[in-house]
Amino acid sequence: MDVADLPELPRRLAAAEPGWNETTDVLVVGSGVAGLTAALHLREQGLHVTVVTKVNIDDGSTRWAQGGIAAVLDPLDTPAAHANDTEIAGVGLCDPEAVRVLVEEGPARVRELIRLGASFDRNSDGSLMLTREGGHRADRIIHAGGDATGAEVQRALHEAVHRDPWIRLVEHALVLDLLRAPDGRACGITLHVLGEGSEDGVGAILARAVVLATGGMGQIYASTTNPSVSTGDGVALALRAGAVVTDVEFVQFHPTSFVTSTVNSVQRPLISEALRGEGAHLVDETGKRFMVGQHELAELAPRDVVAKGIHRVLRATGADHVYLDARHLGREFLEQRFPTIVASTRAAGVDPATELIPVAPAAHYASGGVRTDLQGRTSIPGLYACGEVACTGVHGANRLASNSLLEGLVFAKRIADDIARELPPQAEPAPDTAGPGWVVPPDVRAELQRSMTRGAGVLRSADSLDATAKELARLAEQRDTPRNAAWEATNLLTVATVLVAAARTRRETRGCHWREDFPVAEDEWRGHLLHTLDRARLHQSFEEMA
Ligand SMILES: Cc1cc2nc3c(=O)[nH]c(=O)nc-3n(C[C@H](O)[C@H](O)[C@H](O)COP(=O)(O)OP(=O)(O)OC[C@H]3O[C@@H](n4cnc5c(N)ncnc54)[C@H](O)[C@@H]3O)c2cc1C
Repeated sequence: MDVADLPELPRRLAAAEPGWNETTDVLVVGSGVAGLTAALHLREQGLHVTVVTKVNIDDGSTRWAQGGIAAVLDPLDTPAAHANDTEIAGVGLCDPEAVRVLVEEGPARVRELIRLGASFDRNSDGSLMLTREGGHRADRIIHAGGDATGAEVQRALHEAVHRDPWIRLVEHALVLDLLRAPDGRACGITLHVLGEGSEDGVGAILARAVVLATGGMGQIYASTTNPSVSTGDGVALALRAGAVVTDVEFVQFHPTSFVTSTVNSVQRPLISEALRGEGAHLVDETGKRFMVGQHELAELAPRDVVAKGIHRVLRATGADHVYLDARHLGREFLEQRFPTIVASTRAAGVDPATELIPVAPAAHYASGGVRTDLQGRTSIPGLYACGEVACTGVHGANRLASNSLLEGLVFAKRIADDIARELPPQAEPAPDTAGPGWVVPPDVRAELQRSMTRGAGVLRSADSLDATAKELARLAEQRDTPRNAAWEATNLLTVATVLVAAARTRRETRGCHWREDFPVAEDEWRGHLLHTLDRARLHQSFEEMA
């Protein structure tokens, strides 16, 4: 089916012709857990790797991850139990084979990360400290520095990459579009480097395979836990190149991001659910625990249930936050168990030991993305995707806590193995037949974020989605000159448009997709919405689960 009343989307971004080019064996776009893990495994295969990243090497979601990495490391736990918990969270849409790969290969990948130098919290006897998070029925979450797991993972991978002279790192470079050979195979990318010398400006890097590891798309909303680089570039690039994108309607909203006027950014600090796990309560402005009676687990109900409960209070009161009360946990305990959270709230003038913490839901994780098979291959030969940009099938309609860092580790390795098995010679890009590209102005970003939050956020309905679709169509009519902020705004508009198309079509509530007008999960919707961009029109199809 064609999604007819949506705006046309560009098949390529307006940009100058590449003024320079270079070649590498494998090009990796992105330097979070997925990209850096892929680069290191590709080097084990003796390949020359170039990693291109938008800002600095550490600027992605990975370093912000708090809770930990889920893996079966306790002899009393089993991969089958981890798979079962993952599939329950995914509400019937997980690919069982992908889940099996994740839970069976995860422990080995975590041990490799430890050998590489990542240091996780340990018990006094030296064993790894394992905790539990929402949705897990066993203790299988490893963490570092209490609530600073991502920072440690990023540090270890960053240092390993810097130790290898055969990994070329290009920072401050925005990847724009995919280059394809006459036979359709991916053979490189175009990019805009903000650097000194001959590479400054638009260039091309030719490669025998391309790995997308560009992370999430949280910046399509007005508040998100994701950093400013999470603009869905990889999904937008893949769509423009003709790849299949799926499950984008399933955006996980974290119920408790820290609302503070001192953080002048769309990115909001996360207040981990572990704080509720330790006994903190959600209260409204009158001090009432509004989750009690809504779900048997009250504040510890699944993330989407709590996000919805908070959203309803906000809608009823017109406030922009509710409160988390952690005062009874005590200063010493809070400082020791949650050093990152305590530091970020205190920096904004809120002491959780003596004050209520203002919180509200924020976009947190994209369960969908560029569709891949079990080797990380997309529908375009030579183009791979891993990490949050990819939809491997492990998350289904909702991601189980702490499964995403694991997914990055597991599928990055599979991609490296697959690339090493059959790497064709370098091909020349075919002449561009996509027609003229265009970009929208940078200020589309803020308008789009507000519109998506109003109409396609935690709670959705046909009316709210229709209104957002209209606003996106209006924003898409604008044109601007190519530059980084305009390229990013165009990517945001592209992924937002696809998300709204999917959310309108899926007339049911499942996982983290909540339709107020269709409040239950329907058997007929047990399947995936697939999207491709064809002649600037979005094409949508439905694939039933086997
Ligand atoms: C606050 C927070 C807490 C979280 N806690 C946990 C947790 O406890 N456990 C867990 O498993 N998961 C957690 N997650 C999710 C997890 O951190 C992410 O899903 C994961 O880190 C994504 O890794 P990635 O490598 O795919 O992407 P990222 O780490 O986001 O890296 C993406 C990279 O791509 C680059 N990039 C993007 N676009 C371009 C472009 N056009 N050109 C060049 N480079 C580009 C970026 O600059 C960046 O380097 C959390 C996420 C957040 C935001």
